[in-house]
Amino acid sequence: MVADANVLAQTLNRIDGRGYKSYSEIRGRFEFDRFTLFIDHIQGDPFAAPSKLRVRVPAQEAALPEDLTAPGIRRIALADFLARSVQAAIRGVGNSARETTRENFRRRRPEQRGGRGSGKSGQIFIDAGGQEVLERTAIKIDPSWVEARIEVGLPAAGRRILGREAHRLLIETLPGLIEAGLLSENLSPQAMRDFVECVENQESIRERLAEFGWLGFIADGSLLPRASGASELPMADAEAIRFQSPESLAVEVKVPNPIGENQTQTLRGMAIRQGITLIVGGGYHGKSTLLRALETSVYPHVPGDGREYVVAAPDLVKIRAEDGRSVSGVDIHAFIDGLPGSPGRAGDRTRTFSSPDASGSTSQAANIAEALEIGARGLLLDEDTSATNFMIRDARMQRLVERADEPITPFIDRIQELHERFGVSTVLVMGGCGDYFEVANTVIMMRDYEAQDATDRAHRIADEYASGRLKEAPGVLEPVAPRSPLADSFRADRGRREESISARGRELILYGEQTLDLRHLAQLVDTSQTRAIARAIRLASQHLMGGTEQGLKKSAPALAEVLEALEAILDEEGLDALDHYAADRRSERHPGNFARPRRYEIAAAINRMRSLKVRPVE
Ligand code: ADP
Ligand code: MG
Repeated sequence: MVADANVLAQTLNRIDGRGYKSYSEIRGRFEFDRFTLFIDHIQGDPFAAPSKLRVRVPAQEAALPEDLTAPGIRRIALADFLARSVQAAIRGVGNSARETTRENFRRRRPEQRGGRGSGKSGQIFIDAGGQEVLERTAIKIDPSWVEARIEVGLPAAGRRILGREAHRLLIETLPGLIEAGLLSENLSPQAMRDFVECVENQESIRERLAEFGWLGFIADGSLLPRASGASELPMADAEAIRFQSPESLAVEVKVPNPIGENQTQTLRGMAIRQGITLIVGGGYHGKSTLLRALETSVYPHVPGDGREYVVAAPDLVKIRAEDGRSVSGVDIHAFIDGLPGSPGRAGDRTRTFSSPDASGSTSQAANIAEALEIGARGLLLDEDTSATNFMIRDARMQRLVERADEPITPFIDRIQELHERFGVSTVLVMGGCGDYFEVANTVIMMRDYEAQDATDRAHRIADEYASGRLKEAPGVLEPVAPRSPLADSFRADRGRREESISARGRELILYGEQTLDLRHLAQLVDTSQTRAIARAIRLASQHLMGGTEQGLKKSAPALAEVLEALEAILDEEGLDALDHYAADRRSERHPGNFARPRRYEIAAAINRMRSLKVRPVE
């Protein structure tokens, strides 16, 4: 049934003052002058999760420049821009549509910006992102329309419907917001184009990194440090030293769209080449900041972030020690072998290593093995978050503790093989140990936040002062044995509920009766990615995995194959698929707030499930 805005107005008038449940009468589809409003889900009470709405504007009404809506990265970037623009309109609106000065907005806290009435009354929300530009569900661009997925708190006093407030919210305020945020006539064409083109430039560099033999690129003038440990916003320009490539490591790269006032299409900056790169330097000189910039630059950044021309290969994975995590059947024998208590110390135990409480070194080894298992092309490590005994065993320790008594093959003795045999590069921050000099292809020294090329000096020092240590890898590096996750590991029920899955902020997923701790995933950057991961695990376990412990005959694809199949679904159907599969229906509705996670973070969440059961791939 299709009604128009007048019908909505009449209904709101009729249910004014009634109990909150009567809001269910406004579910449906309403035609407004310039858009269609879909009221998909009504919250149960004023304090519950807000109601879900979609506002769909016909393409000819929105009049977005056609070239900016081209499928692929342009469309993703434009959708991101529009989500931010609707968010800015919401923030500008304050308590009433007429009260729009910036000052008023800034003085109010977010929860004050919407509401009058109880609970979430009057709040309006769209899931626009942070510093990264991600594919997300907040805005959907279709060839014939553009749709904003928003949430509102339907107004109430206590539990009585405030019909006039609801009228004001849905019929007066909302059209203004949508018109301000989505219609091309109200947007700055230049800002819109600059945003999309900047993101496209980043992706264009990312696509060519492998061809150039680079893992990453950091443009001159980039601003890497952040405002604080708790903020991803850039450090104030006056305090920050902008990045400048050392001459010897400098490269130039062309981009498709002209940049800035002088319309340049060539960027100069530092290439991080495939192979082994060491970042050295004194404490507090900016080493970790450089690595962190690479970590998050697997995603594009918004213009003005300071890292918008820092570009990293999409399959770089940050590795750290994470003692206490659970590990299920992971082949870590390349790094750990012959644990005490293993029968004959044969090492078989670490070919399928499991532990509910891994140590620093075993957790770090598992993190590496799991990344390699699903195709990581580069590892990013920081001494600050690594287990020392995993990274190095120096000459003196080699003499005191016999090789036979040390289960760990330190990373330094595998780092070259990783590259030479499997093409997996490493970028390593290491201020505390010079034994790595001889294995590094490039040594970047950070000094007073400036990058210098210290490769030749480091190599000369390595020649002059032998480390005296022996390479102690037992046997050649073998590929990590792939695992099949078993579908029945993923029980989602809890108490009386058949399915209880939710994200609690960026760092936690509640999955059935388990709590998944994702705190240490440095490249998980958005709560909506976490929500997407929770749903993606469910989708994968119900539709893409095979095998149960009992029914061993049923074929079970490898984890890498499961993730490929999942990515194919998301590529094909978009993130809305996460809701379609969950609801087991294709009809349209607000799908929930999702942003696209990488396969590495999805796998990381699966790998941290304490209930995870696997078996080796036949
Ligand atoms: P390290 O890892 O070498 O010990 P960090 O990268 O943690 O050093 O940086 C130390 C401090 O310096 C941090 O507070 C960081 O924000 C700041 N910092 C890093 N790079 C810059 C820069 N380019 N300009 C200004 N401050 C910076
Ligand atoms: Mg550091």
